[in-house]
Amino acid sequence: MYHNLPHNASFWAFLFSIDQDIASSARQDGCPCGGCLHSAKYPRKPRGSDDLAESHCLRLSFCCDRDGCRKRVTPPSVRFLGRKVYLGAVVVLVAAMRQGPSPRRVRELSRLFGADRRTIARWQVFWREHFPQTVFWKMARGRLAPGVATDALPLSLLEAFYRSEDPCRDWGHLLLFLSPITITGGLVIAVSR
Ligand SMILES: [Zn+2]
Repeated sequence: MYHNLPHNASFWAFLFSIDQDIASSARQDGCPCGGCLHSAKYPRKPRGSDDLAESHCLRLSFCCDRDGCRKRVTPPSVRFLGRKVYLGAVVVLVAAMRQGPSPRRVRELSRLFGADRRTIARWQVFWREHFPQTVFWKMARGRLAPGVATDALPLSLLEAFYRSEDPCRDWGHLLLFLSPITITGGLVIAVSR
């Protein structure tokens, strides 16, 4: 059941390894100015899981080594959803658990994930109103199987990705799909003219 996150250290280690892969290819690409990228990771301390190793809380990031540029490059992440202090998986899961045939109570979710009523309400607004308007969603939804209902986000997304016997892998695929929204500009809203 997708109502349970694989709640163990190896799941977070797995997500961290995906982030490392994304980061190493960003590093190989280098800075747009032609400079080399040096590691400049920073701590994020996401909420939503108590058993995270310290190293798994670092947002992988780089800094250009050229004088006059020194641009920071932060690649997409499968662990962090934008500036939200919760893990991306938790933001998806808790909002999805409020939907569906037997929605979980806010009180229960608060106890399970440590997110208060207002935080959970904001996530619901994010999925219902903000996310469907993003350029990312308008482009990316075409890559999904038909039938991922925009008005049932994020539950419909979870259902679309939850298809194997291996919840770790399914979550990995879902979070990788969402990772473009974790970088600056990733949540730009499409303005229709
Ligand atoms: Zn540069």
